[in-house]
Amino acid sequence: MCYQDKNSVPSTELETGEWIKIIKQLPKVCLITLIGGEPLIRNDFEEIVNSTSVSQRCNMVTNGVLLSEHINRFLIERKFLLVGVSLDGVDNIHDKMRGVKGTYKKVVFNLNDLQKQKIKKRSKYPLLDIKTVVTSQNQDNLYELFRKAEELKADFFTISMPKVCVGQFNPKMREEMTKLSSFDFSLFNGIDFKKVREVLKKIVDTRTKMKIRFYPNLSSIEELGKNLYNPKTIKEKFFSCYQPWSGVQITAKGDVYPCLSLRMGNIREKSFSEIWNSEKFVIFRKQLRRQKLFESCLGCCYLSQRK
Ligand code: SF4
Repeated sequence: MCYQDKNSVPSTELETGEWIKIIKQLPKVCLITLIGGEPLIRNDFEEIVNSTSVSQRCNMVTNGVLLSEHINRFLIERKFLLVGVSLDGVDNIHDKMRGVKGTYKKVVFNLNDLQKQKIKKRSKYPLLDIKTVVTSQNQDNLYELFRKAEELKADFFTISMPKVCVGQFNPKMREEMTKLSSFDFSLFNGIDFKKVREVLKKIVDTRTKMKIRFYPNLSSIEELGKNLYNPKTIKEKFFSCYQPWSGVQITAKGDVYPCLSLRMGNIREKSFSEIWNSEKFVIFRKQLRRQKLFESCLGCCYLSQRK
């Protein structure tokens, strides 16, 4: 649920050739994550993926609605690394949160097709990751969703806590975003951490072949809800972050961000390496090295809790 440019005008988005040019500038060995909005909505999806080299492994996060038989075959043949599919809950809970009846059934149908095609082609890839963000609406449905992920033979079950980063979701910005969007921010409130801790423990204690992941990375479920959103203890409870030394986000319009709402430049105006090595980016990293974490890192997926 990272807030990604919902109101971007499609005509200002990077065109196929521009994405291919960016991919050519990336390191020979790297991991490219295609994320939206919804990456499969672009009709040049295959062309963009085909422009990556074998050592540039691709994965994506999708709502799973457009994972057709054709796209599934393409992903298997292209040895796509991983498909992360967001499910908010089982059956009506997912449909209610997505606002479209029948979505859950469609996604499950598509995922079953993906898994069947993988078996037929004797392919392990793409790995399947069922992803969910804990909210007040699905906190009672998490175990059922975990069971569904097992039934779908997912390789990963990833549980994320809502991001409340003050840099991206400060009250002023949230107020503005709420005006622009139909998203119900009250979902972030009303999480019963005691209940969520119990269900997460039950999930962790269940024997399963799936790998269970938490974002942020928690060393102890007991800590959930106690320090995760506390700016005073963030540096004490979590390790320093090195993510801005290893990756960036490039938005649909070509803006480059290390992670927070601090734009480092636009790929239409400068090359990737110019932005990556720019003074602004270097200062940001220096500040992060000095500070170890910012208060605005609260709830970030890249946080990793100290033991
Ligand atoms: S923990 Fe902070 S610095 Fe690191 S990726 Fe998250 S927001 Fe950025």
